Amino acid sequence: MRAVRSLGPSAARTRSAILDMVRSSGTVSRIELAEMSGLTAASITRFVKSLLDDRLLVETGYGDPTGGKRRSLLELNPRARYAVGLSLDVARLSYVVVDLGGEVVGQLVSPGIGQSTPSVTVPRIADELEMLFRQVDLPVEDIVGVGVAGAGLDLGTGVDGWSATTDEWDSFAVQEALQKRVGLPVVRDNDAACAALGQYWTGRIPATQDFATLYMSLGFGMGLMVGGGVSRGASSNVGELGHMVVDIDGPECWCGSRGCLEMLAAPRAVVRRALGSPGLAAELGLSGDEAHVRQDFDAVARAAAEGRERPRELVEDSARYVAAAVLSVVNLLDLDLLYLAGPGFVDAGAIYVRHIRERVARVARIRAIHSVTVELSTPGADAAASGAATLALQHVLMPHARVRREPARS
Ligand SMILES: [Zn+2]
Repeated sequence: MRAVRSLGPSAARTRSAILDMVRSSGTVSRIELAEMSGLTAASITRFVKSLLDDRLLVETGYGDPTGGKRRSLLELNPRARYAVGLSLDVARLSYVVVDLGGEVVGQLVSPGIGQSTPSVTVPRIADELEMLFRQVDLPVEDIVGVGVAGAGLDLGTGVDGWSATTDEWDSFAVQEALQKRVGLPVVRDNDAACAALGQYWTGRIPATQDFATLYMSLGFGMGLMVGGGVSRGASSNVGELGHMVVDIDGPECWCGSRGCLEMLAAPRAVVRRALGSPGLAAELGLSGDEAHVRQDFDAVARAAAEGRERPRELVEDSARYVAAAVLSVVNLLDLDLLYLAGPGFVDAGAIYVRHIRERVARVARIRAIHSVTVELSTPGADAAASGAATLALQHVLMPHARVRREPARS
């Protein structure tokens, strides 16, 4: 890892803030940076020089002011640094290498955690990272860190039959174990927060600093971007949408509550209904195996997307509950932009989008004041992995931008 030059804490902070200003501006002049930061032209010149020396910025020709002195413009040098993102998922481990601009330059997919314990999975991850590094063939010193999405409070919880594994992952410090093995800084956050951050960082979001990302894997999570930062809550566990109650007399949930969204609408619930539907399991080739819930759900979702009647009803059922939960969030937070991301939306995401759009347009409290845009996220299944990589970039290069509070340990 390349060390940040030995600057004092406030100088390092200013440098990080300037780097972030250039990143979010796209192309910017020194004079504009001085205006944005309130720093003197001399200070800006000094910080910019240090960022140019480190190749983090490049000069890209000249602005076009009407008369007067021509100003050279600055841009982020996307190929100056890279980070790895890993989505630690039950069904699939997805690795991406992104450059400083958030563009994916390398990828690797391997089998998910399944029922494996950390002692088995962490060494495998270290080996797969080595493989990925060889594959992308980048200077080692340009790779700044690894971001991990998942393996937090929400990972695997409530899955009957492997609660021992779940407990082990829940209390397992994946960052420390990985950091020791790969010798790079490792940071971690939940899937939904990573997906939201990734979308923000890469500028795929139109001019807004506030939006939510609904993430579906085997459960649900919601990442909230507020004022350009990921909302964290008291313990960095914001967005447990899966445990929003959508039916107070509904089935008992493993969390202790009743009628949680997860019990009624998550892939496992859809698969359970499909297995109870005469002939459907054979027709769609469902395994009914707890370890393959994701694959079974994907089969139902694909059939639904093709318009087959019974699968379509099952997915629409799930989408109705999801739309009800989202409506409450929209009402609570006055949202005007929502993205759907994650592997659960890859095949039948359009059905969920339609239900959410219709419900929100019809009954959201703020419907007379503004509309709510609901879209599928472009990186789809890899949204969490590429977001995790941007988390690592941000952690190492722009630490001032973090608003994270360390989770309280009980
Ligand atoms: Zn619950």
